Amino acid sequence: MTDAGYHMSAEEFRLQGKRLIDWIADYHEKRVVDLPVLSRAEPGLIQNELPERAPERGEPFEAMMQDVDEILLPGITHWQSPNFYAYFPANVSYPSILGELLSAGLGVQGMLWSTSPACTELETRVLDWIAKLLGLPEGFRSSGDGGGVIQDSASSAALTALLAARERATGYQSNERGLADHPGLVAYASTQTHSSVEKDARVIGIGRSNLRAIDVDESFAMRPDLLEQQILEDLAAGSTPFFACATVGTTSSNAMDPLREICRKHGIWLHVDAAMSGTAAICPEFRFIHDGVELADSYAFNPHKWMFTNFDCDCFFVADRAALIRTLSILPEYLRNRATEAGAVIDYRDWHVPLGRRFRALKLWFVLRHYGAEGLRYHIRRHVAWAQAFASWIAADECFELAAPAPLNLVCFRLRASDARNEELLERINQGGKMMLSHTKLDGRYTLRFCVGQTHTEERHVQEAWRIILDEAKAVFSFE
Ligand code: PLP
Repeated sequence: MTDAGYHMSAEEFRLQGKRLIDWIADYHEKRVVDLPVLSRAEPGLIQNELPERAPERGEPFEAMMQDVDEILLPGITHWQSPNFYAYFPANVSYPSILGELLSAGLGVQGMLWSTSPACTELETRVLDWIAKLLGLPEGFRSSGDGGGVIQDSASSAALTALLAARERATGYQSNERGLADHPGLVAYASTQTHSSVEKDARVIGIGRSNLRAIDVDESFAMRPDLLEQQILEDLAAGSTPFFACATVGTTSSNAMDPLREICRKHGIWLHVDAAMSGTAAICPEFRFIHDGVELADSYAFNPHKWMFTNFDCDCFFVADRAALIRTLSILPEYLRNRATEAGAVIDYRDWHVPLGRRFRALKLWFVLRHYGAEGLRYHIRRHVAWAQAFASWIAADECFELAAPAPLNLVCFRLRASDARNEELLERINQGGKMMLSHTKLDGRYTLRFCVGQTHTEERHVQEAWRIILDEAKAVFSFE
Protein backbone atom coordinates (compact mmCIF):
# COMPACT_ATOMS: atom_id res chain seq x y z
CA MET A 1 0.00 0.00 0.00
CA THR A 2 1.18 3.57 -0.70
CA ASP A 3 0.37 6.97 0.82
CA ALA A 4 -2.57 7.09 -1.56
CA GLY A 5 -3.97 3.90 0.00
CA TYR A 6 -4.57 1.46 -2.82
CA HIS A 7 -5.22 4.23 -5.37
CA MET A 8 -2.83 4.85 -8.25
CA SER A 9 -0.75 7.91 -7.36
CA ALA A 10 -0.97 11.02 -9.52
CA GLU A 11 2.71 10.58 -10.34
CA GLU A 12 2.17 7.02 -11.59
CA PHE A 13 -0.90 8.17 -13.52
CA ARG A 14 1.14 10.88 -15.29
CA LEU A 15 3.86 8.36 -16.16
CA GLN A 16 1.56 5.59 -17.37
CA GLY A 17 -0.80 8.03 -19.08
CA LYS A 18 2.04 9.42 -21.21
CA ARG A 19 3.19 5.91 -22.03
CA LEU A 20 -0.34 4.92 -22.99
CA ILE A 21 -0.70 7.91 -25.30
CA ASP A 22 2.57 6.82 -26.94
CA TRP A 23 1.26 3.27 -27.22
CA ILE A 24 -1.91 4.49 -28.94
CA ALA A 25 0.01 6.76 -31.34
CA ASP A 26 2.42 3.91 -32.19
CA TYR A 27 -0.51 1.55 -32.72
CA HIS A 28 -2.07 3.93 -35.24
CA GLU A 29 1.08 5.17 -36.97
CA LYS A 30 3.25 2.05 -37.08
CA ARG A 31 1.74 -1.17 -35.86
CA VAL A 32 -1.83 -1.49 -37.08
CA VAL A 33 -1.00 -1.55 -40.78
CA ASP A 34 1.02 -4.77 -40.37
CA LEU A 35 -1.38 -6.64 -38.09
CA PRO A 36 -3.81 -9.18 -39.61
CA VAL A 37 -6.99 -7.11 -40.00
CA LEU A 38 -9.38 -9.91 -39.02
CA SER A 39 -8.51 -11.54 -35.70
CA ARG A 40 -7.57 -15.18 -36.13
CA ALA A 41 -8.54 -16.10 -32.58
CA GLU A 42 -10.59 -19.26 -32.16
CA PRO A 43 -13.52 -19.10 -29.72
CA GLY A 44 -12.30 -19.31 -26.11
CA LEU A 45 -8.63 -18.61 -26.93
CA ILE A 46 -8.48 -15.24 -25.20
CA GLN A 47 -10.53 -16.32 -22.17
CA ASN A 48 -8.32 -19.33 -21.64
CA GLU A 49 -5.30 -17.08 -21.32
CA LEU A 50 -6.92 -15.01 -18.60
CA PRO A 51 -7.00 -16.10 -14.94
CA GLU A 52 -10.27 -17.47 -13.62
CA ARG A 53 -10.34 -15.05 -10.66
CA ALA A 54 -9.62 -11.36 -10.20
CA PRO A 55 -6.24 -10.84 -8.48
CA GLU A 56 -6.21 -10.63 -4.69
CA ARG A 57 -3.24 -8.29 -4.76
CA GLY A 58 -3.06 -5.30 -7.09
CA GLU A 59 -0.67 -5.55 -10.02
CA PRO A 60 1.63 -3.03 -11.73
CA PHE A 61 0.28 -1.22 -14.76
CA GLU A 62 3.17 -2.58 -16.86
CA ALA A 63 1.81 -6.09 -16.33
CA MET A 64 -1.57 -5.04 -17.65
CA MET A 65 -0.07 -3.46 -20.75
CA GLN A 66 2.03 -6.55 -21.34
CA ASP A 67 -1.16 -8.61 -21.37
CA VAL A 68 -2.78 -6.11 -23.73
CA ASP A 69 0.06 -6.73 -26.18
CA GLU A 70 0.40 -10.47 -25.71
CA ILE A 71 -3.11 -11.70 -24.91
CA LEU A 72 -5.59 -9.14 -26.21
CA LEU A 73 -4.06 -7.89 -29.45
CA PRO A 74 -4.33 -11.33 -31.15
CA GLY A 75 -8.04 -11.17 -30.33
CA ILE A 76 -8.54 -7.73 -31.83
CA THR A 77 -10.02 -7.20 -35.27
CA HIS A 78 -8.35 -4.00 -36.33
CA TRP A 79 -11.15 -1.64 -37.24
CA GLN A 80 -8.59 1.18 -37.33
CA SER A 81 -6.46 -0.53 -39.97
CA PRO A 82 -6.21 1.44 -43.22
CA ASN A 83 -7.10 -1.89 -44.87
CA PHE A 84 -10.44 -2.29 -43.09
CA TYR A 85 -13.33 -2.12 -45.59
CA ALA A 86 -15.87 -4.35 -43.83
CA TYR A 87 -19.29 -3.44 -42.35
CA PHE A 88 -19.02 0.37 -41.99
CA PRO A 89 -16.18 2.64 -40.92
CA ALA A 90 -15.74 3.24 -37.20
CA ASN A 91 -13.15 5.89 -37.83
CA VAL A 92 -11.64 7.37 -34.69
CA SER A 93 -9.23 10.31 -34.58
CA TYR A 94 -6.76 11.76 -32.11
CA PRO A 95 -8.91 14.77 -31.15
CA SER A 96 -11.80 12.41 -30.48
CA ILE A 97 -9.64 10.07 -28.39
CA LEU A 98 -8.46 13.07 -26.38
CA GLY A 99 -12.08 14.15 -25.92
CA GLU A 100 -12.90 10.69 -24.56
CA LEU A 101 -9.95 10.93 -22.20
CA LEU A 102 -11.00 14.33 -20.95
CA SER A 103 -14.56 13.09 -20.46
CA ALA A 104 -13.18 10.21 -18.40
CA GLY A 105 -10.94 12.59 -16.50
CA LEU A 106 -13.75 14.98 -15.61
CA GLY A 107 -16.00 12.03 -14.85
CA VAL A 108 -19.19 14.08 -14.72
CA GLN A 109 -22.74 12.75 -14.81
CA GLY A 110 -24.76 14.94 -17.14
CA MET A 111 -28.21 13.56 -16.49
CA LEU A 112 -29.65 16.95 -15.51
CA TRP A 113 -28.59 20.45 -16.44
CA SER A 114 -27.96 21.08 -12.77
CA THR A 115 -25.65 18.07 -12.38
CA SER A 116 -23.18 19.75 -14.76
CA PRO A 117 -24.44 22.73 -16.77
CA ALA A 118 -21.49 22.71 -19.20
CA CYS A 119 -22.21 19.11 -20.17
CA THR A 120 -25.73 20.03 -21.26
CA GLU A 121 -25.02 23.40 -22.79
CA LEU A 122 -22.03 22.27 -24.84
CA GLU A 123 -24.13 19.40 -26.18
CA THR A 124 -26.96 21.73 -27.18
CA ARG A 125 -24.56 24.08 -28.94
CA VAL A 126 -22.63 21.32 -30.73
CA LEU A 127 -25.83 19.62 -31.92
CA ASP A 128 -27.04 22.96 -33.31
CA TRP A 129 -23.69 23.27 -35.12
CA ILE A 130 -24.19 19.80 -36.58
CA ALA A 131 -27.74 20.55 -37.72
CA LYS A 132 -26.38 23.56 -39.64
CA LEU A 133 -23.39 21.63 -40.96
CA LEU A 134 -25.62 18.92 -42.42
CA GLY A 135 -28.15 21.43 -43.76
CA LEU A 136 -30.90 19.94 -41.60
CA PRO A 137 -34.15 21.92 -41.28
CA GLU A 138 -34.21 24.81 -38.81
CA GLY A 139 -36.92 23.07 -36.85
CA PHE A 140 -34.36 20.52 -35.62
CA ARG A 141 -32.41 23.23 -33.79
CA SER A 142 -32.84 24.20 -30.17
CA SER A 143 -33.85 27.72 -31.23
CA GLY A 144 -37.05 26.25 -32.73
CA ASP A 145 -39.47 23.66 -31.38
CA GLY A 146 -37.01 20.81 -31.76
CA GLY A 147 -33.43 20.06 -30.89
CA GLY A 148 -30.72 17.45 -30.82
CA VAL A 149 -29.27 15.09 -28.26
CA ILE A 150 -26.42 12.60 -28.25
CA GLN A 151 -27.54 9.00 -27.87
CA ASP A 152 -25.36 5.92 -27.62
CA SER A 153 -26.46 4.41 -30.92
CA ALA A 154 -28.76 4.63 -33.92
CA SER A 155 -30.63 1.66 -32.42
CA SER A 156 -31.43 3.67 -29.29
CA ALA A 157 -32.35 6.72 -31.38
CA ALA A 158 -34.90 4.68 -33.36
CA LEU A 159 -36.23 3.23 -30.11
CA THR A 160 -36.72 6.72 -28.72
CA ALA A 161 -38.46 7.82 -31.91
CA LEU A 162 -40.75 4.78 -31.78
CA LEU A 163 -41.64 5.48 -28.16
CA ALA A 164 -42.48 9.13 -28.83
CA ALA A 165 -44.47 8.14 -31.93
CA ARG A 166 -46.38 5.51 -29.95
CA GLU A 167 -47.25 8.03 -27.25
CA ARG A 168 -48.33 10.66 -29.74
CA ALA A 169 -50.53 8.15 -31.56
CA THR A 170 -52.24 7.03 -28.35
CA GLY A 171 -52.89 10.54 -27.07
CA TYR A 172 -50.10 10.07 -24.51
CA GLN A 173 -52.02 7.20 -22.94
CA SER A 174 -49.83 4.16 -23.59
CA ASN A 175 -47.27 5.07 -20.91
CA GLU A 176 -50.14 5.17 -18.40
CA ARG A 177 -52.40 2.37 -19.48
CA GLY A 178 -50.25 0.11 -21.61
CA LEU A 179 -51.28 -1.00 -25.09
CA ALA A 180 -54.49 -2.88 -24.24
CA ASP A 181 -56.63 0.00 -25.57
CA HIS A 182 -54.46 0.29 -28.69
CA PRO A 183 -54.02 -3.19 -30.11
CA GLY A 184 -53.65 -2.13 -33.73
CA LEU A 185 -50.54 0.04 -33.76
CA VAL A 186 -48.66 -0.55 -37.00
CA ALA A 187 -45.18 0.66 -38.06
CA TYR A 188 -43.47 0.60 -41.46
CA ALA A 189 -39.94 0.15 -42.74
CA SER A 190 -38.45 -1.32 -45.90
CA THR A 191 -37.18 -4.87 -46.24
CA GLN A 192 -33.69 -3.31 -46.21
CA THR A 193 -34.11 -1.39 -42.95
CA HIS A 194 -31.53 -2.10 -40.27
CA SER A 195 -32.45 -4.93 -37.91
CA SER A 196 -32.38 -2.52 -34.95
CA VAL A 197 -35.79 -1.17 -35.99
CA GLU A 198 -37.29 -4.66 -35.74
CA LYS A 199 -35.66 -5.10 -32.34
CA ASP A 200 -37.00 -1.71 -31.23
CA ALA A 201 -40.51 -2.64 -32.43
CA ARG A 202 -40.31 -5.71 -30.23
CA VAL A 203 -39.09 -3.64 -27.28
CA ILE A 204 -41.94 -1.13 -27.48
CA GLY A 205 -44.43 -3.96 -27.36
CA ILE A 206 -46.24 -3.63 -30.69
CA GLY A 207 -45.03 -7.04 -31.80
CA ARG A 208 -42.78 -7.87 -34.71
CA SER A 209 -45.67 -8.72 -37.00
CA ASN A 210 -46.93 -5.14 -36.66
CA LEU A 211 -43.78 -3.80 -38.26
CA ARG A 212 -44.62 -4.05 -41.95
CA ALA A 213 -41.68 -4.74 -44.26
CA ILE A 214 -42.27 -2.71 -47.42
CA ASP A 215 -40.71 -4.02 -50.61
CA VAL A 216 -37.97 -2.12 -52.45
CA ASP A 217 -37.24 -1.11 -56.04
CA GLU A 218 -34.29 -2.26 -58.16
CA SER A 219 -31.98 0.16 -56.29
CA PHE A 220 -33.10 -1.41 -52.96
CA ALA A 221 -34.91 1.79 -51.94
CA MET A 222 -38.35 1.65 -50.31
CA ARG A 223 -41.28 1.80 -52.75
CA PRO A 224 -43.56 4.62 -51.55
CA ASP A 225 -46.47 3.32 -53.66
CA LEU A 226 -46.36 0.01 -51.77
CA LEU A 227 -46.08 1.88 -48.48
CA GLU A 228 -49.18 3.89 -49.27
CA GLN A 229 -51.04 0.75 -50.35
CA GLN A 230 -50.13 -1.02 -47.12
CA ILE A 231 -51.15 1.95 -44.97
CA LEU A 232 -54.55 2.12 -46.72
CA GLU A 233 -55.04 -1.61 -46.19
CA ASP A 234 -54.17 -1.29 -42.51
CA LEU A 235 -56.50 1.69 -42.07
CA ALA A 236 -59.30 -0.24 -43.76
CA ALA A 237 -58.67 -3.12 -41.35
CA GLY A 238 -59.05 -0.76 -38.37
CA SER A 239 -55.35 -0.58 -37.46
CA THR A 240 -53.51 2.59 -36.47
CA PRO A 241 -50.47 3.35 -38.63
CA PHE A 242 -48.19 5.44 -36.40
CA PHE A 243 -44.54 5.25 -37.49
CA ALA A 244 -42.38 4.88 -40.58
CA CYS A 245 -38.62 4.56 -40.73
CA ALA A 246 -36.87 5.75 -43.89
CA THR A 247 -33.18 4.99 -44.35
CA VAL A 248 -30.56 7.25 -45.87
CA GLY A 249 -27.92 4.68 -46.79
CA THR A 250 -29.15 1.18 -45.98
CA THR A 251 -26.73 -1.15 -44.25
CA SER A 252 -26.62 -3.81 -46.94
CA SER A 253 -26.22 -1.66 -50.03
CA ASN A 254 -26.33 2.09 -49.18
CA ALA A 255 -29.76 2.51 -50.80
CA MET A 256 -31.46 5.87 -50.32
CA ASP A 257 -35.15 5.73 -49.45
CA PRO A 258 -37.08 8.57 -51.15
CA LEU A 259 -37.80 10.73 -48.08
CA ARG A 260 -39.97 13.23 -49.90
CA GLU A 261 -42.33 10.52 -51.10
CA ILE A 262 -42.44 8.75 -47.74
CA CYS A 263 -43.86 11.90 -46.25
CA ARG A 264 -45.72 11.81 -42.98
CA LYS A 265 -49.18 11.36 -44.43
CA HIS A 266 -51.93 9.99 -42.23
CA GLY A 267 -50.30 11.55 -39.13
CA ILE A 268 -47.50 8.98 -39.14
CA TRP A 269 -44.23 9.81 -37.34
CA LEU A 270 -41.42 9.76 -39.91
CA HIS A 271 -38.01 8.80 -38.56
CA VAL A 272 -34.94 9.05 -40.80
CA ASP A 273 -32.06 6.68 -40.08
CA ALA A 274 -28.93 8.06 -41.75
CA ALA A 275 -26.53 6.12 -39.53
CA MET A 276 -23.43 6.11 -41.73
CA SER A 277 -24.36 8.21 -44.74
CA GLY A 278 -25.70 11.30 -42.96
CA THR A 279 -22.10 12.47 -42.61
CA ALA A 280 -21.88 12.95 -46.39
CA ALA A 281 -24.35 15.84 -46.16
CA ILE A 282 -21.54 18.00 -44.78
CA CYS A 283 -20.58 18.27 -48.47
CA PRO A 284 -23.20 20.30 -50.37
CA GLU A 285 -22.85 18.09 -53.46
CA PHE A 286 -24.02 15.04 -51.47
CA ARG A 287 -26.94 16.78 -49.79
CA PHE A 288 -29.33 15.20 -52.31
CA ILE A 289 -29.47 12.28 -49.87
CA HIS A 290 -31.52 14.47 -47.53
CA ASP A 291 -34.08 15.63 -50.07
CA GLY A 292 -37.35 15.81 -48.12
CA VAL A 293 -35.78 15.59 -44.63
CA GLU A 294 -37.80 18.67 -43.62
CA LEU A 295 -40.83 16.34 -43.60
CA ALA A 296 -39.32 14.16 -40.87
CA ASP A 297 -40.27 14.13 -37.20
CA SER A 298 -36.88 12.77 -36.22
CA TYR A 299 -33.48 12.13 -37.74
CA ALA A 300 -30.41 10.24 -36.55
CA PHE A 301 -26.86 9.75 -37.78
CA ASN A 302 -23.70 8.36 -36.21
CA PRO A 303 -20.55 10.47 -36.04
CA HIS A 304 -19.15 7.23 -34.57
CA LYS A 305 -19.27 5.69 -38.02
CA TRP A 306 -17.88 8.09 -40.58
CA MET A 307 -17.09 11.34 -38.76
CA PHE A 308 -13.83 10.55 -36.93
CA THR A 309 -15.57 10.28 -33.57
CA ASN A 310 -15.22 7.37 -31.17
CA PHE A 311 -18.13 5.10 -30.41
CA ASP A 312 -20.54 5.93 -28.83
CA CYS A 313 -21.95 9.00 -30.49
CA ASP A 314 -25.27 9.11 -32.31
CA CYS A 315 -26.83 12.53 -33.01
CA PHE A 316 -30.61 12.37 -32.71
CA PHE A 317 -32.77 15.32 -33.72
CA VAL A 318 -36.49 15.87 -33.25
CA ALA A 319 -38.78 18.48 -34.75
CA ASP A 320 -40.98 18.62 -31.63
CA ARG A 321 -39.01 18.20 -28.43
CA ALA A 322 -42.20 18.56 -26.34
CA ALA A 323 -43.48 15.22 -27.71
CA LEU A 324 -40.25 13.50 -26.73
CA ILE A 325 -40.05 15.01 -23.27
CA ARG A 326 -43.70 14.24 -22.56
CA THR A 327 -42.97 10.63 -23.48
CA LEU A 328 -39.88 10.12 -21.35
CA SER A 329 -39.94 12.63 -18.50
CA ILE A 330 -40.13 11.37 -14.94
CA LEU A 331 -39.22 13.55 -11.97
CA PRO A 332 -38.70 11.67 -8.73
CA GLU A 333 -38.10 13.69 -5.57
CA TYR A 334 -34.37 13.00 -5.48
CA LEU A 335 -33.89 14.69 -8.89
CA ARG A 336 -35.95 17.79 -8.15
CA ASN A 337 -34.07 21.07 -8.50
CA ARG A 338 -34.86 24.72 -9.05
CA ALA A 339 -33.60 24.99 -12.65
CA THR A 340 -35.68 22.02 -13.82
CA GLU A 341 -38.80 23.21 -12.07
CA ALA A 342 -38.43 26.71 -13.48
CA GLY A 343 -38.49 25.08 -16.95
CA ALA A 344 -35.44 27.16 -17.85
CA VAL A 345 -33.09 24.37 -18.88
CA ILE A 346 -32.75 21.19 -20.93
CA ASP A 347 -32.50 17.98 -18.92
CA TYR A 348 -31.25 15.45 -21.42
CA ARG A 349 -32.26 12.47 -19.26
CA ASP A 350 -35.76 13.21 -20.67
CA TRP A 351 -34.53 12.73 -24.23
CA HIS A 352 -33.57 9.03 -24.09
CA VAL A 353 -33.98 5.87 -22.02
CA PRO A 354 -30.98 5.95 -19.63
CA LEU A 355 -30.78 8.41 -16.77
CA GLY A 356 -27.00 8.70 -16.46
CA ARG A 357 -24.99 10.20 -19.28
CA ARG A 358 -21.34 10.80 -20.06
CA PHE A 359 -19.84 14.03 -21.37
CA ARG A 360 -19.90 12.79 -24.96
CA ALA A 361 -20.20 16.25 -26.51
CA LEU A 362 -16.54 16.87 -25.67
CA LYS A 363 -15.20 14.46 -28.27
CA LEU A 364 -17.56 15.80 -30.92
CA TRP A 365 -16.60 19.38 -30.06
CA PHE A 366 -12.91 18.50 -30.32
CA VAL A 367 -13.46 16.79 -33.69
CA LEU A 368 -15.43 19.72 -35.12
CA ARG A 369 -12.91 22.26 -33.88
CA HIS A 370 -9.88 20.27 -34.96
CA TYR A 371 -10.99 19.44 -38.51
CA GLY A 372 -13.30 22.37 -39.15
CA ALA A 373 -16.03 21.85 -41.75
CA GLU A 374 -13.43 22.07 -44.53
CA GLY A 375 -11.32 19.26 -43.03
CA LEU A 376 -14.32 16.97 -42.75
CA ARG A 377 -15.40 17.75 -46.31
CA TYR A 378 -11.85 17.06 -47.57
CA HIS A 379 -11.76 13.56 -46.06
CA ILE A 380 -15.34 12.61 -46.98
CA ARG A 381 -14.78 13.65 -50.58
CA ARG A 382 -11.63 11.54 -50.79
CA HIS A 383 -13.40 8.48 -49.38
CA VAL A 384 -16.24 8.85 -51.85
CA ALA A 385 -13.85 9.42 -54.76
CA TRP A 386 -11.83 6.26 -53.95
CA ALA A 387 -14.99 4.18 -53.56
CA GLN A 388 -16.19 5.49 -56.91
CA ALA A 389 -12.85 4.59 -58.51
CA PHE A 390 -13.16 1.10 -57.03
CA ALA A 391 -16.69 0.81 -58.44
CA SER A 392 -15.39 1.77 -61.88
CA TRP A 393 -12.70 -0.97 -61.71
CA ILE A 394 -15.37 -3.52 -60.80
CA ALA A 395 -17.64 -2.34 -63.61
CA ALA A 396 -14.79 -2.55 -66.14
CA ASP A 397 -13.68 -6.07 -65.21
CA GLU A 398 -15.52 -8.89 -66.94
CA CYS A 399 -15.06 -11.26 -63.99
CA PHE A 400 -17.00 -8.98 -61.63
CA GLU A 401 -20.29 -7.13 -61.50
CA LEU A 402 -21.73 -4.34 -59.38
CA ALA A 403 -24.57 -5.67 -57.26
CA ALA A 404 -26.20 -2.31 -56.46
CA PRO A 405 -25.80 1.39 -57.24
CA ALA A 406 -22.92 2.93 -55.27
CA PRO A 407 -23.98 6.49 -54.47
CA LEU A 408 -21.26 7.23 -51.90
CA ASN A 409 -18.54 5.21 -50.17
CA LEU A 410 -19.96 1.66 -50.21
CA VAL A 411 -19.52 -0.64 -53.20
CA CYS A 412 -21.46 -3.92 -53.41
CA PHE A 413 -20.06 -6.36 -55.91
CA ARG A 414 -19.69 -10.01 -56.74
CA LEU A 415 -17.81 -12.36 -58.98
CA ARG A 416 -19.83 -13.41 -61.98
CA ALA A 417 -19.96 -16.85 -60.44
CA SER A 418 -21.90 -18.90 -57.92
CA ASP A 419 -22.58 -17.86 -54.33
CA ALA A 420 -20.14 -20.53 -53.18
CA ARG A 421 -17.34 -18.99 -55.26
CA ASN A 422 -18.09 -15.53 -53.86
CA GLU A 423 -18.11 -16.89 -50.33
CA GLU A 424 -14.78 -18.55 -51.00
CA LEU A 425 -13.38 -15.28 -52.34
CA LEU A 426 -14.37 -13.43 -49.17
CA GLU A 427 -12.92 -16.17 -47.00
CA ARG A 428 -9.60 -16.09 -48.85
CA ILE A 429 -9.34 -12.30 -48.70
CA ASN A 430 -10.11 -12.08 -44.99
CA GLN A 431 -8.00 -15.07 -43.98
CA GLY A 432 -5.07 -13.54 -45.87
CA GLY A 433 -5.08 -10.85 -43.16
CA LYS A 434 -4.00 -8.00 -45.44
CA MET A 435 -7.46 -6.48 -45.74
CA MET A 436 -11.00 -7.12 -44.63
CA LEU A 437 -14.37 -7.05 -46.39
CA SER A 438 -17.81 -8.18 -45.26
CA HIS A 439 -20.81 -9.55 -47.10
CA THR A 440 -24.57 -9.36 -47.43
CA LYS A 441 -27.29 -10.86 -49.60
CA LEU A 442 -28.97 -8.77 -52.26
CA ASP A 443 -31.82 -10.25 -54.27
CA GLY A 444 -30.98 -13.48 -52.48
CA ARG A 445 -27.44 -13.55 -53.89
CA TYR A 446 -24.21 -13.55 -51.91
CA THR A 447 -22.61 -10.11 -52.27
CA LEU A 448 -19.32 -8.58 -51.12
CA ARG A 449 -19.27 -5.13 -49.53
CA PHE A 450 -16.33 -2.72 -49.84
CA CYS A 451 -16.78 0.35 -47.64
CA VAL A 452 -14.18 3.14 -47.69
CA GLY A 453 -13.92 5.46 -44.70
CA GLN A 454 -11.16 4.61 -42.26
CA THR A 455 -9.07 7.47 -40.88
CA HIS A 456 -5.73 6.14 -42.15
CA THR A 457 -6.91 4.78 -45.50
CA GLU A 458 -5.14 6.36 -48.48
CA GLU A 459 -5.63 5.92 -52.21
CA ARG A 460 -2.69 3.48 -52.34
CA HIS A 461 -4.43 1.20 -49.83
CA VAL A 462 -7.53 1.07 -52.03
CA GLN A 463 -5.37 0.27 -55.08
CA GLU A 464 -3.61 -2.47 -53.12
CA ALA A 465 -6.98 -3.85 -51.99
CA TRP A 466 -8.07 -4.14 -55.61
CA ARG A 467 -4.85 -6.00 -56.45
CA ILE A 468 -5.46 -8.46 -53.60
CA ILE A 469 -9.06 -8.99 -54.70
CA LEU A 470 -7.93 -9.69 -58.28
CA ASP A 471 -5.25 -12.16 -57.11
CA GLU A 472 -7.66 -14.01 -54.84
CA ALA A 473 -10.31 -14.08 -57.56
CA LYS A 474 -7.77 -15.73 -59.90
CA ALA A 475 -7.05 -18.32 -57.22
CA VAL A 476 -10.78 -19.01 -56.80
CA PHE A 477 -11.24 -19.56 -60.53
CA SER A 478 -8.10 -21.69 -60.84
CA PHE A 479 -9.75 -24.26 -58.54
CA GLU A 480 -12.80 -24.57 -60.78
N1 PLP B 1 -28.97 1.89 -39.00
C1 PLP B 1 -28.17 1.68 -40.04
C2 PLP B 1 -28.60 2.11 -41.42
C3 PLP B 1 -26.93 1.06 -39.85
O1 PLP B 1 -26.13 0.81 -40.90
C4 PLP B 1 -26.55 0.67 -38.55
C5 PLP B 1 -25.25 0.00 -38.28
O2 PLP B 1 -24.75 -0.78 -38.98
C6 PLP B 1 -27.44 0.91 -37.50
C7 PLP B 1 -28.63 1.53 -37.75
C8 PLP B 1 -27.11 0.51 -36.09
O3 PLP B 1 -26.19 1.43 -35.58
P1 PLP B 1 -25.85 1.46 -34.01
O4 PLP B 1 -24.79 0.47 -33.81
O5 PLP B 1 -25.39 2.87 -33.78
O6 PLP B 1 -27.10 1.14 -33.28
